[in-house]
Amino acid sequence: MRNRKQVEAAIAARQADAEDLGTIRRRFLGMISMADRQNQDGCWIWQGGHQSAAGYGMFWYRGRTIGAHRASWLIFNEGEIPPKHVVMHKCDDRMCVNPRHLRLGTHRDNMQDAVDKGRIAFGGRSARTSLDEMTVAAMRGEFIPGRYGELTRIANKYNVKLSTVSMIIHGNNWKYSRVTLGSDPSSDPAHKKAASGANHYKAKLTEENVIDIRTAFALGQSYEKLALQYGVAKPTIAGICSNRTWTNLPSTPRRGVGPQLFSSQEIHVA
Ligand SMILES: [Zn+2]
Repeated sequence: MRNRKQVEAAIAARQADAEDLGTIRRRFLGMISMADRQNQDGCWIWQGGHQSAAGYGMFWYRGRTIGAHRASWLIFNEGEIPPKHVVMHKCDDRMCVNPRHLRLGTHRDNMQDAVDKGRIAFGGRSARTSLDEMTVAAMRGEFIPGRYGELTRIANKYNVKLSTVSMIIHGNNWKYSRVTLGSDPSSDPAHKKAASGANHYKAKLTEENVIDIRTAFALGQSYEKLALQYGVAKPTIAGICSNRTWTNLPSTPRRGVGPQLFSSQEIHVA
């Protein structure tokens, strides 16, 4: 026997399903000003009134309330948000629902996005300075995977911290692997091939490797993946990440935060 609440929920669900996409779309567009809608490339600022604590517009969609930007994705961009993915803003305005300003990404991409958009502290300078996307792209472009001393060379050239370079390079890997295989970089065949084929880390870890490992760990990489990537045992990675070994080097940044790279407000988790 279903109770009243369940019956009501079932009816609501059926009614919600009954609303066809055309109707939903019209109702959605009604929440955006005509002026915004006439500018295809501009931001479409949500006028729907409801706003989540995180600063996103909210929209009633097929029987539930969801983020208006997520609704926009579902309505205009062919519909699905794969598991573990978020709808990200290219334009950085959480109230924007222009489908052209949205893209899919993982939570990790979302974090990386904050890095890419210049919220990185330069080493050796007093104030926090933006690292622009051009510079990030240039650093990524010239990085040669597996070559000894690459991170150090780039860090010196651009006058940034080793950990920042590491973060940028790792972020690149993560972003790249998302295209083919979801959020897990080491499941990317190309990544695996690079790690096992080159064997360049097999011999002995360098100081650069250790900083790299600590940064990657702080960004969410697992012991297992790092052990695989660097061709060392898991306890070795554990020792490095918990700062029990290599105590002469900078310790592991607090996990999920990064070495003063971004604040939680700057991470747009949808
Ligand atoms: Zn926008």
